[in-house]
Amino acid sequence: MAIQSINPATGAVLKTFDPLGADEIETKLARAASTFASYRRTTFAERAAKLRAAADLLDAERSDIAVTMTNEMGKTVASAAAEAAKCAKAMRFYAEHAEGFLADEPLDDPSVVGARRAFARYQPIGPVLAVMPWNFPLWQVTRFAAPALMAGNVGLLKHSSNVPQCALYLEDLFTRAGFPVGAFQTLLISARQVEAVLRDPRVAAATVTGSEPAGQSVAAICGDEIKKTVLELGGSDAFVVMPSADLEKAASVAVTARCQNNGQSCIAAKRFIVHDAVYDEFAGLFAAKMAALTVGDPLADGTDIGPIATEQGRTDLEELIADAVAKGATVLCGGTAPDGPGWFFPPTVVADVTPAMRLYLEETFGPVATLYRAPDLDAAVEIANATSFGLSSNAWTTNPAEQELFANELVAGAVFINGMTTSYPELPFGGVRRSGYGRELGAVGIREFCNQKTVWMG
Ligand code: NDP
Repeated sequence: MAIQSINPATGAVLKTFDPLGADEIETKLARAASTFASYRRTTFAERAAKLRAAADLLDAERSDIAVTMTNEMGKTVASAAAEAAKCAKAMRFYAEHAEGFLADEPLDDPSVVGARRAFARYQPIGPVLAVMPWNFPLWQVTRFAAPALMAGNVGLLKHSSNVPQCALYLEDLFTRAGFPVGAFQTLLISARQVEAVLRDPRVAAATVTGSEPAGQSVAAICGDEIKKTVLELGGSDAFVVMPSADLEKAASVAVTARCQNNGQSCIAAKRFIVHDAVYDEFAGLFAAKMAALTVGDPLADGTDIGPIATEQGRTDLEELIADAVAKGATVLCGGTAPDGPGWFFPPTVVADVTPAMRLYLEETFGPVATLYRAPDLDAAVEIANATSFGLSSNAWTTNPAEQELFANELVAGAVFINGMTTSYPELPFGGVRRSGYGRELGAVGIREFCNQKTVWMG
């Protein structure tokens, strides 16, 4: 099947690409392996200069690539430009810090292990395959590529089939920045072609950002091949509001936390769990602010929400809402797709959600929020943790004891108190439970794909 760029705002096919054939994949894998053999010996300073050059190019080209991102997956052009800027920032972060993160870690007293010197050394492991999603078409890849390239690994990108132009741009960007050909290559291949790449002995490891089925498949194959994986999968993050919270602010941030990226973010807050004492007030504020958002042309100034990236994505939302309504849920705003071209869907708030509904457990990948009434603190924590996911979580309270309790008791890879979840290059990012394992970003992120070698010298 062809790999296509389709504009989700219009349904128009923008470009079509043939997936790579076996010979072309072989050429790229051979190039990755041969480039790694020399690239792994380059210095941090050499790699950092190239990564900074990539950041400079990206900054200079931000407006143009933002339009490409918007045309391929529908995010507003302002958020696309912000994403490109964030990528440049992350590249500079790793250019600056990688050498420190991967410095030798000596034992203070090597005599305890009978050595003259003993230390851990971080070394690159080889070509890493990144299977990436369309929702942040540059950021998801950069989060992998910047640390991987600084560690001395080389990257192979299997991007989502609906963002091939972004995928090709990234290879071109790193090549123009001065990385050797083969240090970062895009493989325009279908999901079905991934297995052969994973099983190739030249591929050392894999990282997946995407759905549970994609993660399961890649991890199963890598398990069979004894290759390391990092999985960043779905999320259904809780956003708990307690009585002491600034409700006006919490409601405003809740809207952004739910609707960022047209609601298609793994770390979007999706389940809003509100203490009984402030439930009615919060629900009113939240639904009004959601309904006030402007849905429309993602290239236009003033648009808050563009289309859902794929027709299937919109159908999935419609089915989840229909199931909930049939079982007694209440739609406070939105809920129905507009007529006309493009895969638009309005900001939607659904209340009276029960465990019998699919919405209770399944992830909503679009601007659809669910509201839950919690009689007390314990119930709020219980509802928040009643999910198979565990990516991030949010809690709003000015009470220090409650803040500590949420930080300790929410089962997730992150907890944000009085703020919304965001990924920062400085902080580890990743989940627990069915949201995946392993971490990206921070110091821990760059070490995931390194051989932590123990060196003992007598
Ligand atoms: P998919 O998992 O379908 O796609 C993600 C990537 O995986 C694509 O490159 C896709 O290729 C590939 N893929 C899909 N199935 C397989 C397979 N069996 N073997 C190998 N590769 C495969 O996810 P979506 O595009 O639908 O993205 C939305 C999902 O991803 C949501 O569940 C969301 O929460 C999650 N996600 C998680 C993030 C995180 O950081 N934790 C971030 C963003 C999204 P192709 O396009 O060719 O099918």
